[in-house]
Amino acid sequence: MPKVQETILEIDLKALKHNFEYLKSKLEPNTNFLAVVKAFAYGNDADEIAKYLQDLNIDYFAVAYANEGVALRNVGVTKPILVLHTLAVNFDIILEHCLEPNLYNAKILKEFIAFAEGKNQKHYPIHLKFNTGLNRLGFLKDDVDGLVAMLNNTNAIKAKSLFSHLAASEDLNERDFTLEQIHTFNTLANNFSKAIGYKPMLHMCNTSGVLNYPEAHFNMVRCGVGLYGFGNSKKESANLKPIARLKTVISQIHHIEKGESVGYNRAFKSEGAVTKTATLPLGHADGIGRIYGNGKGFVTVNGKKAPIIGNVCMDMIMVNITNIDCKEGDEVVIFDDKTTSAETLAEHAGTISYELITSISQRVKRAIIK
Ligand SMILES: *Cc1c(COP(=O)(O)O)cnc(C)c1O
Repeated sequence: MPKVQETILEIDLKALKHNFEYLKSKLEPNTNFLAVVKAFAYGNDADEIAKYLQDLNIDYFAVAYANEGVALRNVGVTKPILVLHTLAVNFDIILEHCLEPNLYNAKILKEFIAFAEGKNQKHYPIHLKFNTGLNRLGFLKDDVDGLVAMLNNTNAIKAKSLFSHLAASEDLNERDFTLEQIHTFNTLANNFSKAIGYKPMLHMCNTSGVLNYPEAHFNMVRCGVGLYGFGNSKKESANLKPIARLKTVISQIHHIEKGESVGYNRAFKSEGAVTKTATLPLGHADGIGRIYGNGKGFVTVNGKKAPIIGNVCMDMIMVNITNIDCKEGDEVVIFDDKTTSAETLAEHAGTISYELITSISQRVKRAIIK
């Protein structure tokens, strides 16, 4: 590994493959695998990750918004791409790039049918989402009759899948609620398939759903965070490998005398003896939010923990390296695949790995490790 000389997010494709194979080993052989690569593949690098997973013969991709799907098509992704959060303004680019919209209420379904008919489409693949308790997007049980009528009235579109999303798949205290969601979806989907006279694919599980509810894998599962190395529990995270390591270097070292302060608003004050600090070239514009400041977050310098002191700046953080043997230019680890994982760092600041990793901004260089 070349020595790090600036802030770098290293992305390890071998770890990605490990996670993919681990999650796949939990499925029946004929269950399809959809990789959720929204938000730059959770802040990693959607292009490289999607291309690599396509080479591993993944079945499906999903993004949140249409423009993310366009970006994948532009780098050569040819597998089907489900757009989880369709907005009517994007119908044109959806069609132009053969993206498959999730249609989640009567308004957008009606609009998409009219659009597809206007473009002389036949059996354009769409996906229908049911709300079974998350109360975010999706049709309700009472919408089914209207839905069936709309579908049976046109051949411009065809339902390729019916799906739903679990509200608390990682929380076993909510097991009863989750089982009820699965039951509701099963009933809805079966009635719906009967009424339209063909069987779309069914899917419901995210990563934690895959791990905790094997009875709900249906025809396909949708994994995001697990592919990137986090399992939503200590036990499952141990079976997965974080694919990303965020590293940087020490730009400058200061010795702060008693009574002096560090950073904006003088948020850190040296109280005891001299505090030795290191200034690092990354800040909240790179994804290390202000919640990590003032001792909540930490980095690792030559194997030792160095707390972030004072307020996080836009482009820099300062860390306490008193008693750590180091010099300007030395490598610093923000998170890696070991004890100082993104999950641990996020927990220290009271947030979750999803938020930390998806926040790493596009300013940070990515290095793909094959
Ligand atoms: C983001 C998302 C997923 C992936 O969830 P993970 O917990 O990251 O595996 C699956 N399904 C839907 C609808 C999503 O929005």
